[in-house]
Amino acid sequence: MYAKVIVDVPAKQTNRAFDYWIPEPMREWVAVGSRVGVPFGPRKLQGFVVDIRTQVDYDPAKVKPIAEVMDVYPPLTPDLVELARWISQTYLCHEITALQAMIPGALKAKYERHVKVAEHAADGRSAGTNVGGSGGQHLLLLPEQLDILRYVREKGTVEIGALLQKFAANGGLVKQLMLEGLLLEVQMIKDRMAAKKVLTVIPPDQPAQLLQRAEELPARSAKQKEVLRYLAEHPFPIKLSELLHELGTSAGTVKSLAEKGWLAIEEVEVFRDPYAQRSFRRTEPLALMPEQRHVFGRISEAVQDERHQVFLLHGVTGSGKTEVYLQSIQTCLDLGREAIVLVPEISLTPQMVERFKGRFGDQVAVLHSRLSHGERYDEWRKIMLKQVRVVIGARSAIFAPFTRIGLIIIDEEHESSYKQEESPKYHARDVAVARAVQHRAVVVLGSATPSLESMYGTMRQPSLTGTPSGAAGGNRLNDAAAAVSAAGLHPSVQADAPSNEAPLQPQGAAIELLTMHNRVEGRPLPRVHIIDMREELREGNRSMFSRSLYKAIEERLHKKEQTVLLLNRRGYSTFVMCRTCGYVAQCPHCDISLTFHQSSRAIRCHYCGYAEREVTVCPSCSSEHIRHFGTGTQRVEEELGKLFPGIRVIRMDVDTTTEKGSHEKWLTMFRNRQADVLLGTQMVAKGLDFPHVTLVGALAADTVLNLPDFRAAERTFQLLTQVAGRAGRHELPGEVFVQTYAPEHYSIVSASRHDYKSFINKEMTLRKLHEYPPFHRLILITLSHEQIPLLMRTAESLAARLKELAKSLAPLPVEILGPVASPIARIKDRYRFQCMIKYRGEASISGLVRQAAAAFEDMEKQHKLTISIDVDPQVLM
Ligand code: ADP
Ligand code: ZN
Ligand code: ZN
Repeated sequence: MYAKVIVDVPAKQTNRAFDYWIPEPMREWVAVGSRVGVPFGPRKLQGFVVDIRTQVDYDPAKVKPIAEVMDVYPPLTPDLVELARWISQTYLCHEITALQAMIPGALKAKYERHVKVAEHAADGRSAGTNVGGSGGQHLLLLPEQLDILRYVREKGTVEIGALLQKFAANGGLVKQLMLEGLLLEVQMIKDRMAAKKVLTVIPPDQPAQLLQRAEELPARSAKQKEVLRYLAEHPFPIKLSELLHELGTSAGTVKSLAEKGWLAIEEVEVFRDPYAQRSFRRTEPLALMPEQRHVFGRISEAVQDERHQVFLLHGVTGSGKTEVYLQSIQTCLDLGREAIVLVPEISLTPQMVERFKGRFGDQVAVLHSRLSHGERYDEWRKIMLKQVRVVIGARSAIFAPFTRIGLIIIDEEHESSYKQEESPKYHARDVAVARAVQHRAVVVLGSATPSLESMYGTMRQPSLTGTPSGAAGGNRLNDAAAAVSAAGLHPSVQADAPSNEAPLQPQGAAIELLTMHNRVEGRPLPRVHIIDMREELREGNRSMFSRSLYKAIEERLHKKEQTVLLLNRRGYSTFVMCRTCGYVAQCPHCDISLTFHQSSRAIRCHYCGYAEREVTVCPSCSSEHIRHFGTGTQRVEEELGKLFPGIRVIRMDVDTTTEKGSHEKWLTMFRNRQADVLLGTQMVAKGLDFPHVTLVGALAADTVLNLPDFRAAERTFQLLTQVAGRAGRHELPGEVFVQTYAPEHYSIVSASRHDYKSFINKEMTLRKLHEYPPFHRLILITLSHEQIPLLMRTAESLAARLKELAKSLAPLPVEILGPVASPIARIKDRYRFQCMIKYRGEASISGLVRQAAAAFEDMEKQHKLTISIDVDPQVLM
């Protein structure tokens, strides 16, 4: 038996599977998806088994054996291994990078150097102090060296650093033993994190015995008697620490009972459960509203038919999408299948988790980045060991190692955070569709403001190249690729672009559109007022609050209702500027302004971490009129305090939410009405549901509009719709004020009218006109280097090479734009240039890019030049 293994080195030369022979005793343990340790040149590396064969194509004698198997259960399922290959082909990354992205950080390999005692040294032990050296001579060992050898022999292997620490005074002797070959170096592959084990007291099978034993003990052993009686009454395994705490006794007491053999103390694996301290009130399914019932019907039908299908659920804020998700998941679980729910990191709030834990209790695992490595690993193990059947998590939860997925839900599917910005630069929505094809599962994309890509998918006919049902043979990777394209998320050239008159959902569209126009129980959407801030200024109001928003806040304070204020993070910058000469503090390594941090009174670069003390005198003109723009939210908080003395404000932004659990703390306080205003960045716009919020203010609604990004209008529309959706979700009606300098912009006007349709029509028209996604696809290639001339030359020849290769695709339209300097022209002392490929259709564009980039790999190596490729980029900086 042979295994094909992808090793842990992300490089072109190793981006293929290598053959290894599986030694007989390991056969039971090695499977597709296993992690193994394999010899690779002089080293030992971790790798993933991606295939198992009975023969190799060349001399089997040359094939080396697998050195070790790392896990009892393979951490990856075969379908994940297959998916990794798809990801590496689609997003042009190394296969190992995709595989690594699928396992928790705790399982990433850590290479350790250990020593063990050489065999001949072990033999020499009985011969007294003389042992054979490597050269066959007899060496006289010092007593200290013998101590070292004895220590290592007892332990089996010892990590070199630990050994040196233990024998700190004799580091030289350790080295000598190694040089003489008495200690041999072995490389060990270790997990970064191990399962947590806790000493646990295990009572005997017949607890009645315990009482009897308690009687037998002499009176002075009162503590021991107490332990025995307690266990007789509670005959279950209990953590040693808990037992000690319960009885106020010492470990010695319990240990002496264990030594008598009356009970056992064992190390038992436990799960670090971040939610262990919390209890969740169980919720029952609600009676659905008519629109919910229809939508639920369509989804659950598909789930029951075990048919692959993608739905786009467009439901206005407060229409009850979550209840639909919950009931659909129930259908899925009833069929014995599993469900994955993706939510953006930022809205993975305790409130969201509560809704799922409340309905499905212990069946739910939660994966988000605020968990510690250990907690994350343990949640993941619950999935692996099939102790849970629902996972709710951010982007990477799409790789949950389930084996029978019936339903994948992506909430707020328009969020750009579903795209990973570092390699593998995958989009979780596309990966979800591919994975659903493998499992014949249903995908539900939910949003109040669906992305143009998904909307476009509902307007298109499924392409003929792939049946989204994945019927033929099930797990075909090709089907997955075809389905992602067939789902219409990305156009292929055969498909016709929709005309704007087309009904939103033609028969047999690739994605089925489901709509919920109404809020639950017919609650009205909030009334939205657009405030022209230019007008305010003209009338002499220089405050950041318009007069009407000021009045509205005052009114809420009066009525004891709550207000949410959104300040777009990117809007109010936090830079340091000289008011005399206009000097702005910039990072010396990156072309970006430094950010002022009030708490540490330092200015800092967000890209490279460079920091300096705040400046009080302008370095350029020596003026003292330096203005520190604190984080926008801080300034707003200050101004609120001035305008409304005694107002209680909770501020949520990067500065106030770094601490673990702080997010939760603030939201709980707000929910308990311990504050009048919740003020924050994007994080207050998403998913929050508070009954007493009747006012929402967006302070600088249009700042995103000015970003050099073709999605600027879409982002603005989404943000405003989301934040407006926080108001009046319950009995009390809501009101929204949008302050802007661009009151007539269509994204702001449509958002204020809750008019998704007119927005999408306008935006689709513009995208089509300018040949942007979803009508065309983009690949962004960014090159970076310390020196401009070499960088420019390389960028130009790469672009030329791409143009050359693109000719072979004619008549398919492929356009190579650039090279130009990137919008952020320098990061960490490296200059950046970019090329953009704009194209329609799948063709073999990825092959082409791979081919072009491959020609520059030597350049990358020799000159430390980096070329990074982003397929379907979300950020164009
Ligand atoms: P969305 O995610 O679409 O913005 P939610 O799922 O948060 O909306 O629902 C809004 C509110 O309506 C929540 O408080 C939810 O509990 C409630 N709700 C949802 N469905 C129903 C229903 N069928 N009957 C009564 N209340 C409901
Ligand atoms: Zn100055
Ligand atoms: Zn910097």
